[in-house]
Amino acid sequence: MTQPVVLHTVAEVHALREQLRTDGKTLACVPTMGALHEGHVALVSRGRELADVVIVSIFVNPLQFGVGEDFDRYPRTLDADVAALAGKAEYVFAPDVDEMYPDRVGGAPVPPQHAGPVGETFEGVSRPGHFDGMLTVVARLFDIVQPDVAIFGQKDAQQVFLVRQMVQTQQLPLQLEIVPTIREQDGLALSSRNRYLSEEERAAAVALPHALLAAAREAEQGGAAAVREAGIRTLDHYPLVRLEYLDLVDPTTFQSVSDNYQGPVTVVIAAKVGTTRLLDTENLERLHA
Ligand code: AMP
Repeated sequence: MTQPVVLHTVAEVHALREQLRTDGKTLACVPTMGALHEGHVALVSRGRELADVVIVSIFVNPLQFGVGEDFDRYPRTLDADVAALAGKAEYVFAPDVDEMYPDRVGGAPVPPQHAGPVGETFEGVSRPGHFDGMLTVVARLFDIVQPDVAIFGQKDAQQVFLVRQMVQTQQLPLQLEIVPTIREQDGLALSSRNRYLSEEERAAAVALPHALLAAAREAEQGGAAAVREAGIRTLDHYPLVRLEYLDLVDPTTFQSVSDNYQGPVTVVIAAKVGTTRLLDTENLERLHA
């Protein structure tokens, strides 16, 4: 199977973009931080269905990591990633930090993006500035790649909300496509960070999907408070897991819903297992007040 062509510079991507325009071909972009797994591959496969050519970006973005987070130890496995994309994506864009942020070395400024109030809730509470950094790199990537379609995973629900908000408010000319979460057999969402987990922690990490399942079951009859409570109570069985938040948000605003809310909700959960922070999410069709 043919391996993707690896591009490292903005100039190379611009040349590719020009060529595709001339050839009348559409381009799907899958932004990632590498250490690819089957979740990422599902995004790539969706890209292949929606566009003629797929480019996967692999960039561990320093702007979205806080002090003391895992930027330095985040897995960097470019050769394995490129091999995993053989026959699936035509191109990989793997720039270095100076290429993405030329302003760091005296080049053109990269406009910072601001997530606004939603960026300060949930993930933003324990990761201040994370979403500004994430949006800045996504906007920079869109500007470089100019994709017809950009593909993200539902697992990072707050990220999806904020990217959608940016695309809408800035009227960026691209289609956003969201892919459901790919899970291990026991329900744990695939994540590049799962490799940090010890055997014992890995066994405990199933607490997150179990909590979502308990919440979904309760939602068949219960209201918001009962659903939240059912999810949180599940965590009692997993002493290795420290809950950061479990809440129900209105998918149209990403605000916590009130106890008498009726309608669709997104359940969001974040927890620490050992030193590893894990996220998960589930969309529920509707709550009964
Ligand atoms: P990351 O490399 O972790 O920044 O993720 C890159 C993209 O892959 C994001 O849009 C994630 O939401 C998506 N993604 C990560 N894990 C999964 C998964 N288990 N299933 C589907 N998409 C995922």
